Amino acid sequence: MDSTQRDRNTELTLPAETPNIGVSENPFDASSAIEQHILIGLEKIGLALKSQSWQDAGQQGLTPTQGQILALLIDKGDAGMRLSEVAKHLAVTAATASDAVTSLVEKGLVQKTRSPQDRRAIAITLTTQGQQTATQTASWSDFLLNTVNELSEEEQVIFLRGLIKMIRKLQQQGQISVARMCVTCQFFQPNRYPRSDRPHHCALVNAPFGDRHLRLNCAEHVAADPEIAKQNWNFYLSK
Ligand code: SF4
Repeated sequence: MDSTQRDRNTELTLPAETPNIGVSENPFDASSAIEQHILIGLEKIGLALKSQSWQDAGQQGLTPTQGQILALLIDKGDAGMRLSEVAKHLAVTAATASDAVTSLVEKGLVQKTRSPQDRRAIAITLTTQGQQTATQTASWSDFLLNTVNELSEEEQVIFLRGLIKMIRKLQQQGQISVARMCVTCQFFQPNRYPRSDRPHHCALVNAPFGDRHLRLNCAEHVAADPEIAKQNWNFYLSK
C-alpha cells in the first residue's frame, strides 16, 4: 500500500501514518507541558491588552491606571469608592492610586466628596465629563471581542469556566482583588436544576441561568459567607 497521500487543499505529499517514533524519542514529548503553552498564550493576550490600553490611554491624555480608575467608577454612582478600595481593586499601592486620582481631579474627571454612607470618609466619584470619558475607557478591551467570537459557543463556555476557576484561585491566593463573580455571591445557587441547560439559580432576580451566563463583574453581587461560598464552589465544580 502507498505510504503517502496527496492533500487536496495544499497539494502537499503527506504521510498516511504517523512516523514510527518511540515515545521517549518524540521531540514533542520532551518539549514543555501544556501548562507552559497556556501560560505563554495568557502572556501574549496580557501584552496585547497592555499595549492597547497604553495606546488608547495616550489618545485620551490618560495613563492606563487613570483609565482603569474611571472604568471602575462607572457603576458606582454617587456612592463612589474610597481610595483604599480603588487601590485594592487595581492591585496598586495607595500612593500610585492617590497620584492617579489627584491627576484625574486636576483634569476635572473625578471629584472627592463626603461619602453618603459615612460622612467621615472621602468618596471618589465621576464628574459629568468623567462619565463620558469613562465610557470610552471601559471599551479599551473591546478589540478582544472579535477574537472571543472566533470560539464556538461550546469553546466559549469551557473557556469561561476555566477563567472563573483561575480567577477564584488567584483571589484565594490574594493575588488579585475580589471579583464580583456569581460563584462567590450570596444569591448564587449552583446546580439547582441539574438536568437543565440553565442549572444555576440567581435568588436576587429569581431566575435560572446557565454556565454561559456566569458573571465575573456583577453590580448586584453581594459576597456570600465564606463557608457558604466554599460549599457552593464545591457543588458548582462537582457537576
Ligand atoms: S446577583 Fe449577580 S453575581 Fe449574584 S448570583 Fe445573581 S447574577 Fe450572579
